[in-house]
Formats: sequence, C-alpha cells, structure tokens
Amino acid sequence: MTMTDHLTGYHDVQERIAKAAASVGRPADTVTLVAVSKTHGEEAILPVIEAGQRVFGENKVQESQGKWPALKERFPDIELRLIGPLQSNKTADAVALFDVIESVDREKIAREIGKEMKKQGRAPRLYVQVNTGEEPQKAGIMPTEAVAFVERCRAEHGLSIEGLMCIPPAEENPGPHFALLRKLAGEAGVEKLSMGMSGDFEAAVEMGATSVRVGSAIFGARDYGADPAR
Ligand SMILES: *Cc1c(COP(=O)(O)O)cnc(C)c1O
Repeated sequence: MTMTDHLTGYHDVQERIAKAAASVGRPADTVTLVAVSKTHGEEAILPVIEAGQRVFGENKVQESQGKWPALKERFPDIELRLIGPLQSNKTADAVALFDVIESVDREKIAREIGKEMKKQGRAPRLYVQVNTGEEPQKAGIMPTEAVAFVERCRAEHGLSIEGLMCIPPAEENPGPHFALLRKLAGEAGVEKLSMGMSGDFEAAVEMGATSVRVGSAIFGARDYGADPAR
C-alpha cells in the first residue's frame, strides 16, 4: 500500500462515519475514530497523523512500546488506546504508556490497574470489555456480570469507568451485540460505547457508538493470516 492509499481509506472512513451519524441525527463529532494501527509501522502511521488523526488503537503493549513513545513525543496531543487483552505483568507498562485502556476485563486486572495508577500518579481513562457473544476464546466480562463488575471497579478498586467495549462474534449480525452493549452501559451508568470495526462501524454509529475502532479500512490488510482479535 502506498501513502496515498492510506489517506484515501482514512478520508473514506471519516466520510462514512459522518454519513452514518447524520442518518440518525447525530453530529459527526459525537463519534471518535480510533485508527487501529497494530502491525503497521511509522511509515504507515505518520501520513495519517499528518492528515490530522490523533486517536490510535493498539492491541499489544510490547508492540506499542516499540513504536509509540517517539511518535507521542513528536505529537504530544496523540491519544493512544489499548484495545487488546492486558496481561497482569504488563499492567505497569500499559498504565505508563496508554491514555485509554479499553480492555479491563477481570478482577485481577482492575486491581492491578488501580495499584499502578496510584503508584505512577497517572490515570488512563478506562473501559470494561464485555464478551457480548459469550465466546469462550474471547476476552471480556460476561454480559450478566458486567454491571456488577463496573460497580466493583468503582467501589473496590477506585476506578472510574468511562465506557463499555465489545467485539461481536465475527460470524454474527453485530446489531444485537451493539444493542446489548448499549443496554448494559445504561444499566451500569456509563456513557461511552466503543463498538464497530472496519466491517460494521456504520451500523455501530447508527446504534450509538461513541467511538469506532477501524484498522484495515484505513491501513489496508494486516500482514498476518487470521486476526487474533476475532
Ligand atoms: C484489530 C482490532 C480492530 C480493528 O479491526 P479492523 O477489522 O481491521 O477494523 C478493532 N478492535 C480490536 C479490539 C482489534 O483488535
């Protein structure tokens, strides 16, 4: 892919978000585009930053440590989001590097994040990941436990949860999953909904997504076979 192709994809995604938002009477700026740059290097990311994009998503702590500190130094207003599962031995690194962690998905991680936030004096914004499809291989808290988990994050770990995140099963119509996430967010009293990827972000916007996580529609296909996130 050339740089021009990247920007074509980027502008196309922006336009499609604006259209989807308009179709349900939402201003386009109520939806944050998270450009998912996992597997891509600086040569692919830089043109998108220069075109004005400031919010990026990565799914691995270690990969992000390799490429983002330098970019964040050059562009201090970049917001970096962790959207992949967090291992507890990576919590300190994640709290140090990321501005938003979207994958809070179990008690142990919530506790570790709370500890690290105190220790480092840094407070990344937090989302709870919900496994709306109840898939055994996928991270996320079960839907029936999500509301209680958000409450425990607040009460026991001192965490302020900003929103919920989901990755619907690849083979299913995502609509019911988006609807479930929105319902749970209402019950848990959180405002933000991170839902929608390259294949379904317009549907997600129509169903209330406040951020969409879009990778391949911006950067092109990734350089590995099966996407481990799905
Ligand atoms: C990779 C990834 C995305 C982006 O996927 P695309 O289909 O390339 O848009 C979104 N969310 C998560 C959690 C991911 O891991």
